[in-house]
Amino acid sequence: QIQRALRSLSIPLERLHIMKGHMMQDMCKGLSRQTHAQAKVRMLPTYICSTPNGTEKGNFLVVELCQSQVRTVLVTLYGDGNMSPQMMYKIFDMPEGILQGEGEALFDFIAQCVSQFLAETISSDTKGSEQRLPLGFVFPFTCQQTQLDKAELLSWSKGFNCSGVVGKDVVQLLQSAINKQELCHVDVVALMNDTVGTMMTCSMEGRPCEVAIVADKGSNCCFMAEAYLVETTDETSGRMCVNTEWGCFGDDGILNDILTPYDECVDEESCNPGEKRFEKMVGTLYLGEIVRHALIALTAEKAIFTETNIAVLKERGVFTMQHVLDIINNEEGITDVRRILEVLGLQPSERDCGRVQQICRAVVGRAVTLHATGLAAILSYMCQTRDMETLMVNVGVEGELYTGYPRFEEILLSVSRLLSPECMATLLPSRDGSGRGAAMVTAVALRLAAQRCAVNEVLAPLRLSRADLEKVQALMREEMDRGLCKETNASASVRMLPTYVSHTPDGTERGDFLALDLGGTNFRVLVVHVTEEGISMASEIYVIPVQLMQGTGEELFDHIIECIIDFQTKQNLVAQMLPLGFTFSFPCQQVGLDKALLLTWTKGFSASGCVGQDVVQLLREAAKRKRHLGMQVVALVNDTVGTMMACGYDDPKCEIGLIVGTGTNACYMEEMRNVGTVEGDQGRMCINMEWGAFGDNGCLDHLFTHFDKVVDESTINPGKQRFEKLISGMYLGEIVRQILMVMTEKELLFQGKPCPKLQTKDIFKTKFLSTIELSNGLALRQIRAILNELELDASFEDSVLMREVCQTVSLRAAQLCAAGLAAVVEKMRENRGLDQLNVSVGVDGTLYKLHPCFSDNLQKTLKDLAPNCNVTFLLSEDGSGKGAALVAAVANRAANAMQ
Ligand code: ADP
Ligand code: MG
Repeated sequence: QIQRALRSLSIPLERLHIMKGHMMQDMCKGLSRQTHAQAKVRMLPTYICSTPNGTEKGNFLVVELCQSQVRTVLVTLYGDGNMSPQMMYKIFDMPEGILQGEGEALFDFIAQCVSQFLAETISSDTKGSEQRLPLGFVFPFTCQQTQLDKAELLSWSKGFNCSGVVGKDVVQLLQSAINKQELCHVDVVALMNDTVGTMMTCSMEGRPCEVAIVADKGSNCCFMAEAYLVETTDETSGRMCVNTEWGCFGDDGILNDILTPYDECVDEESCNPGEKRFEKMVGTLYLGEIVRHALIALTAEKAIFTETNIAVLKERGVFTMQHVLDIINNEEGITDVRRILEVLGLQPSERDCGRVQQICRAVVGRAVTLHATGLAAILSYMCQTRDMETLMVNVGVEGELYTGYPRFEEILLSVSRLLSPECMATLLPSRDGSGRGAAMVTAVALRLAAQRCAVNEVLAPLRLSRADLEKVQALMREEMDRGLCKETNASASVRMLPTYVSHTPDGTERGDFLALDLGGTNFRVLVVHVTEEGISMASEIYVIPVQLMQGTGEELFDHIIECIIDFQTKQNLVAQMLPLGFTFSFPCQQVGLDKALLLTWTKGFSASGCVGQDVVQLLREAAKRKRHLGMQVVALVNDTVGTMMACGYDDPKCEIGLIVGTGTNACYMEEMRNVGTVEGDQGRMCINMEWGAFGDNGCLDHLFTHFDKVVDESTINPGKQRFEKLISGMYLGEIVRQILMVMTEKELLFQGKPCPKLQTKDIFKTKFLSTIELSNGLALRQIRAILNELELDASFEDSVLMREVCQTVSLRAAQLCAAGLAAVVEKMRENRGLDQLNVSVGVDGTLYKLHPCFSDNLQKTLKDLAPNCNVTFLLSEDGSGKGAALVAAVANRAANAMQ
């Protein structure tokens, strides 16, 4: 019989695995918006999103409502890593009857305790000062929390039943009572459960603690969950502490097969039968009772106490947790066991003593094993949701079972390791219970609030209002008009260069064309076949050595022709004379489709004898020198125009081209009558806006932040391309880097520790913005590579803030780009006298294509700024190749049509 009893109290490992799985399912259920109402494991959000980092400082008051006491604590933190906070305590006994009385009386009493405590502890010099005193309230009842300082009581428990409190915000009730005591400088800033207090208490001295277990009279656990998984709150970034309330696990019957008859007896005798089944197997309030019922049952079976009267065991609670602990902690001999049983009034035999000890060990061992199973579920859940292969985590523990049973730690860790081998937990004992932790929560809340203000102050200049954007749109429109007008063109910051492209493709173009792409990331030669079936291309990348980029123009163009000859030979195209479109992405004054004067070299080119010359002519002369007759240059094309044309082949509504890559620029179809810089009033012409230079005349000065100015000054062309420097890939990373440096200086990031690597220009790449902004829920692992490259020691909070910085910078870029486009589409709509314009934009550029939010933000803002324009965005594939060929093809088609 004894063996059977012991077996029923020991749960096989496979069963524990199943239980771990059930616990994880219940956790998910508790977090999900749809199912949390039915979940047994409640998973209550706490609105605590950060653990202490050691910089917290100041005085913090804590009030803790306990079973029969009110405890007050004053904690002074010195910002020294929170090694040794100064603490002062006072404990007040609760008067008779208050637990069942009026709610108002309870809160008035608590406020009186606060008042009396402060009168005794706070020195008179601080008393007189205006300084606010933040208060953390430890309230160990089930609450529906909607903010850190807003918590509606769901139900009383533990013998409390004060009227008029359920359904009310207890923070508000306490604050009102405190105000009545004329303690107007005391602010209740945080409410929390005792488990959370424990986690925070352990989270000190540089060891962040992300899980806490309270193994006491009851049992509970909390941990830091990814905030986006806590669907019952709107918080989506970072993490939030979730109070599991795991004591109710099993209330749906899922543990029934492992319940023993002794557990059933304990449950039946409790004040809440059928509830808190897990807690009743593991809480120290119940372990003595389980043992007592086991002994009664075994006596009835004549397996124990055959020679003694056990009437004394019939009384509830006679067998206490302390008895159980004293019995099992007695490893050698049984004299102590005998003494304890005798004190209880039993006369045990030697065999009885041994068996009682076995039963006690089994009951306590089971309780620890079950705690370990719950912990394993939490650890595996954390590991999975953080997308990690292994998890190392600190676990704070406190409670009678932990402090009273020396083997607790060993069993807890070994069992949880068996169940979750991918996780490695380290236990941290909580020395001062929840009081110190509650002060920490309060301190962290204040630190975060102060940090939030400081962060907002840094980022405010980068956040544009709707009115700001409307103003940018209006200014762009003004500059466009000035650029188009012959008289004002020279002084306009937006050059509005005519391209001599007057038609977009109509899909009837046919033939084989050559294309050159010079001025992008690579130099390429392409052949483009435009057929009834569609467009096919072949291309080759050629290198332009630096000595040719910076040598003479003749050498440069000779090299280009050699590359073309090589390409045509390889492609078997030498026998034909092919029309060639030349994508030349440098600023040019175009005077005809095949005549364009180079205004200035950029992007590292400086070949002599080219500026002021007709680029097409230079290419033709080189062909002549090389006696190459296989090509005929028919058009010089800017890459924006190429992009528009490439998309225009599939969508005739595509009359705008946009680039957001290394730089940014746009082109669109303008009415000839508005183009003052070219003769003629008929039809349309594509205008290369060169909008990157928007603002170079000072009209955007009000928008430039400190960061923009620093970035501008460190470029090779300070004061130039000011609009581009707010938007494009070459600069966004730099802007972010400047902000991160300032935030570090202000100790808002990396705890103010200097980051030498971050001082290096261009070390923060624009593609990092994409990676960081993409990291949903921000599993740190996804950006680990970036942090390593930058040698940044970023905490979780640091990475959340870094993401906010990236988001702010990329959002502004997208919004400004949208304001520019809004001016363009609105002008086109007016030009055509339409109430509603339907138009498409061909877009190219890696920033636009690969950034996770840029295009969405751009389109959303454009819709808002130009509601009467219905704009479709098309991604261009190889605009500079395909587009250049199509310009040549359209020119061909138009020429043929004229004949
Ligand atoms: P170009 O404009 O020279 O033709 P791209 O269109 O490829 O070249 O754009 C290059 C720019 O795109 C670079 O400045 C780089 O910073 C940026 N970039 C590269 N990868 C990404 C990415 N994943 N997310 C955002 N920007 C990127
Ligand atoms: Mg490009």
